[in-house]
Parts: sequence; structure tokens; C-alpha cells
Amino acid sequence: MGFVRLLPRSSSRARNRVVETDLEIDLEADLEAESEVDVSKKRHKAPVELTALEELPVFDGSPAPIVSAPVASAPVVSAPIVVPQAPAPGVTGTRVIAFANQKGGVAKTTTTLNLGVAFKEMGYRVLLVDLDPQGNLTMSQGLNPDTIETSMFDVLVRKIPISDVIERREVDLAVASIDLAGAELALAALIGRERSLEKALVEVRDRYDFILIDTPPSLGLLTINAFVAATGVIVPVQCEYLALRGLVQLENTLAMVRENLNPLVGVEGIVPTMYDARTLHAREAVEILEENFGDLVFKTRIRKTVRYAEAPVKGSSVLGYDPTGNASQAYRDLAKEVLHGAEAREHA
Ligand code: ADP
Ligand code: MG
Repeated sequence: MGFVRLLPRSSSRARNRVVETDLEIDLEADLEAESEVDVSKKRHKAPVELTALEELPVFDGSPAPIVSAPVASAPVVSAPIVVPQAPAPGVTGTRVIAFANQKGGVAKTTTTLNLGVAFKEMGYRVLLVDLDPQGNLTMSQGLNPDTIETSMFDVLVRKIPISDVIERREVDLAVASIDLAGAELALAALIGRERSLEKALVEVRDRYDFILIDTPPSLGLLTINAFVAATGVIVPVQCEYLALRGLVQLENTLAMVRENLNPLVGVEGIVPTMYDARTLHAREAVEILEENFGDLVFKTRIRKTVRYAEAPVKGSSVLGYDPTGNASQAYRDLAKEVLHGAEAREHA
């Protein structure tokens, strides 16, 4: 199995950094190994180098999971994160954004909810979709996934209309239940298993400006469904060194989805979360992110604060729970960046 590496944006800057951490040592080693690659390519222009992807499983009818774990001895091939060259989705039309990172606890759910509520405050029509069997998004709006009778499982597998599982809360929410844990297995047997969510959203797409999809901490069939339905992907990343590693696998999966199922989907941005400006560790982690992914990294840093854990207990977003606090403002700032990022790309 091949393991595709991300191409750092500016290897010379990274190379010149004082090596202080294990990860930087690893990155240096990676950079040495990639020394034959033309690292001067601009992010927006860089094609995906899919050589190693040919060795990865394709959608050939075999059950998920689709992505292989990286192997230490695997060949080193670069695959830069690609922003598709198509017109920016959503400046006109509905933007469908998947929040993904196969690592748990990086603030996917928190970001889906609070960004959604921030868009609603700005006057946009917002639907959230809970695709995580853990149902944390559903819970954070005061609903109990254990007692919900019809959920996204029924939408994806039994093909009931998605409008049947939408609850009106702070924002509209298509709910998850514990059943969703069986969805990957049930979907695996179905033809069109990767397009189930995309098809379900057709019914309601015109009613919303933003459809935000919270995904589970894996790159299995539920997350693939989100990528196929999405116009873009936002990746919340905890401000710590090991964060970079997971992004490689994430981009591999996205590259396969682009090849096979949805040519327009790509990473719209990376959100640094749980940022603690007092620690050198967090500041360096963000620097490394920016060195590697440039302006894909949103300028808004979501700081570490207990407010984000307190709000869901009250069945509320942070914007509802503490509307004037810094934690709420951070997601309003991010909402503006997400909006303007798309406009900027459309006019570029
Ligand atoms: P994921 O969906 O990626 O698993 P969550 O959004 O559920 O992550 O966040 C994991 C935990 O961290 C939750 O308890 C959440 O309340 C908390 N959390 C999220 N964002 C922050 C933050 N910026 N600062 C502190 N805690 C946070
Ligand atoms: Mg979650």
C-alpha cells in the first residue's frame, strides 16, 4: 500500500527552522526525502501527483474502510493539498461543507455547531447534519440520540426523506441516533453507497444557504458520503505537533473522492483549534501548520476555553450560551473568513 505525503509549501523556510521537537525532526527527514520534488509550485496551481494513489484501494465494490494506514517503509510521494480550480462553490448556490479530521476531539462538532449558528446570526439559512454515530452534535442541541427513533441512519440506508429527521433547534439539525453506528455496514452492501447523502440532500438543498456536515473520527463510508455531497471540506486541527500527520491521510481520501466521485471537492481551510497563546507549543504548532499549508490556514484561532465544553451541557451553542464572550466572537470571525475566502477565490 502506498502512503502519499503532503508537499510542504515552503521547504526552505521549514528547513531553516531551529529543530526543537520530534515532529520537526520528522518533517526535516520528510523534506530530505522529498528533495527531488519541485517545491516552488504554487498551492493553487499544483496538480495532485497521484502516482502512489494507484496503489491504494479504489471504489471497486469492496466494503469500507477505504484508506490504508501509513506504513513506515512506504515510498515517499508528494501529494499537495489541492484547491480545485472550479468556481468557488457557494458564493452563488448552497455551500455544503464537511467538517472532517479522523482524529477525535479536535473540535469538529464544536466548529460545525458554532459556525452554523454564526452563519444563522448573519441571516443565512443553515442546516446541520449529524453524521457521527456518537451523536454529539445532536446532544449539544439538547436531544438524546439514544431515544431518537428516526435519524440519518434511516435517511442513508432506508432512504426516507431527510426532512423527516430535521429538528428545529438553534439551527435546523438532521439528527443522529445510535443506529448510525450500523450505517457503514448497511451501506456497504448498497449500490451507490457513497452517494447516499448527496441524493438525500437534493430534497432540501434549495432551502438552505449552508449545509454543514459533522463527520465521525474516521475516514470510512460516512465521511466519504460527506465528501461526495460537499462543495468543500474544513479541517479543524488541534494546535499540537502531531496534527500534521493525520492531514496526509485525509488528503489521500479526498484525492480518491475527487478522482472517482466528486471532482470539485477540496480542503477549503484548516482551523487551528484549542489554541493556547500562552504556550510556546501551541504557537509553534500553528507556525508549522502555516509553513506547510500557507493561506489554507484560517487566520482565526479558536482559543482553548472551558466555554466550549459548558455550552453543550445547556443544549446550546456558545453563541447562545455566552453571546458576548470571546469564544462566540471567534466563531463569528471564522464565519466571515469562510464567506470571504470563497469570494476571494471567485474573484482571483
Ligand atoms: P470532535 O467532534 O472533533 O471529536 P468536539 O467538538 O466534540 O471534537 O470537542 C472535543 C471536546 O473538546 C469537547 O468536550 C468540546 O467541548 C471541547 N472543546 C472544543 N473546542 C474547544 C476549545 N476551543 N477549547 C477547549 N475545549 C474545546
Ligand atoms: Mg464530534
